[in-house]
Amino acid sequence: MIQYIDTHCHLDGEEFAEDREQAIARAKEAGVAQVFVPAIDLKSCQTVLDMCRQYPGYCQSMLGLHPEEVRADWREQLAEIRQVFSAPIGGRGADEISPIAIGEVGLDFYWSREFEQEQLFAFEEQVRWSVETRLPLMIHCRKAQNELVTILKRYAQDLPGGVFHCFTGNEIEARELLQFDGFVLGIGGVLTFKKSHLPEVLPAVVPLERIVLETDAPYMAPVPHRGQRNEPAFVFQVLQRLAEAYGVTDDDVARITTANVHRVFKKL
Ligand SMILES: [Zn+2]
Repeated sequence: MIQYIDTHCHLDGEEFAEDREQAIARAKEAGVAQVFVPAIDLKSCQTVLDMCRQYPGYCQSMLGLHPEEVRADWREQLAEIRQVFSAPIGGRGADEISPIAIGEVGLDFYWSREFEQEQLFAFEEQVRWSVETRLPLMIHCRKAQNELVTILKRYAQDLPGGVFHCFTGNEIEARELLQFDGFVLGIGGVLTFKKSHLPEVLPAVVPLERIVLETDAPYMAPVPHRGQRNEPAFVFQVLQRLAEAYGVTDDDVARITTANVHRVFKKL
């Protein structure tokens, strides 16, 4: 059976409170070998770690402060999240639940620019964590690519790599992001939407060696589940559409994207 990885899934969310166990069973049955779960704030750093403790090895944690959660108190938030990072995570299987990446972090000026400056500072601080810890970045970016690229360029030589998650941009934006060595684009449900330009954009400028799969569940469910709650098993629809767009087999996409994941997330 072909195996592949969902690199971005909010499986700790309350959307999965009722049927998390079954969602994981369905994911395994569909061929999902692992699920990476990002935190969005201090509180979720705990829920993510607790959840990963329940599914050691299968669910992998990523810790960070999401741009939409950045407020006036971002310094305190970051100081506490940094504590979670550096405190030894005790107990059996401790190494298996310790974070594999810093995320999700980034910039989001789509909904509001109220905390624009704070977002810029908080993101840059977490980029420095990545340089220090050698953990890759799981990056969220919406309506802010220029600002994002400006910050990343300051650290480009020292960054260990990462994922530009939920990429939905054009060819120019894809090329600009791929200038960062060791970084890949996270491709999810949007690829399968009827009006998506990604099936043309990606093969034109992005080698498969620079792509990883994701669901971003519970959001962004792919066709034919569009509008429903997304779940990790649905990453298969993304894989299939990608194979179609690149004119390769499902197996090729599974093999290549999994190799890409292992290259970026060195701790695995
Ligand atoms: Zn996310």
